[in-house]
Amino acid sequence: MEGKKRQNIRELLQEYGFHFKKKWGQNFIFDLNLLRRIVDTAGIKAGDRVVEIGPGAGTLTRALLEKGAQVLAIEIDATLLPVLEKVLEGTSGVVVQGDVLKLNLDEITAAYNLAHPYKVVANLPYYITTPVIMSLLENRYQIEDIVVMVQKEVAERLTAAPGTKEYGAVTLAVEYYAEAEILFKIPRRVFTPVPEVDSALLRIKPKAVSPPGTAKNPREELLFKIIKAAFGQRRKTLLNSLSSLKEGINKEKTVEILAKAGISPQTRGEALTLDQFRQIADVWANFIKQE
Ligand code: SAM
Repeated sequence: MEGKKRQNIRELLQEYGFHFKKKWGQNFIFDLNLLRRIVDTAGIKAGDRVVEIGPGAGTLTRALLEKGAQVLAIEIDATLLPVLEKVLEGTSGVVVQGDVLKLNLDEITAAYNLAHPYKVVANLPYYITTPVIMSLLENRYQIEDIVVMVQKEVAERLTAAPGTKEYGAVTLAVEYYAEAEILFKIPRRVFTPVPEVDSALLRIKPKAVSPPGTAKNPREELLFKIIKAAFGQRRKTLLNSLSSLKEGINKEKTVEILAKAGISPQTRGEALTLDQFRQIADVWANFIKQE
């Protein structure tokens, strides 16, 4: 029965003359056992509201629906819509055509009566993995949990420890909003077509669901400017990379700020934790205020 279902979706794609498009990162999963393991590991249960980014042929969508979740899926490729209609026939799954980076997820979920907060589960297209994750977090959507398949190297970057070569500005940006952990690795051979890289299932659990409409504040913007500058030229000392910032602070002041924050000016950004960056930003903001 299951073998038949799987066969049917592949056949359906052929029937509709579907061609995999590299430009949209189309690498599909047809293995039902793996799909169920993903949904189980994500902890999806009946009644959960789930936004799926890029449903493709609807295989993961169906595994989510099987668990009793309410699913709203956003797919950019119009040629997949008739396939999805067929695959999701008789289910409560809803598909919206569009580019996830151009849609406001809180608005679209509300428009389709998907209550907040909701979860995001997806096999993300590789070419926009980091922008999608950052947009989910920075927009402070009403998301309680994110479980996504991403390229293994991206998963390692987003969960890296200070001082490692994978650690970077994006690691800290994710850590600022959420807790990230790798759930399990997924070999490339399970995807159709087989990509050039392996994947990992990543959980990104937002630290809090912010009140709707919370905007970025100036302190946050300063913190991210400092982090970006510190990693902009990884070989430079913190003093040199921060002195290049045009935030009303000269080199002497930068030395003072770092001293006050208890951080050696000769350190490199890649060795600092998020809390240490926060300390620098706090002292920095006070200096600007006093100017
Ligand atoms: N979920 C399916 C699976 O696991 O078999 C497909 C995953 S495939 C890696 C990524 C999917 O995202 C494709 O269906 C692709 O067309 C879609 N996609 C790519 N860019 C998108 C975007 N900007 N907005 C929404 N969907 C997108």
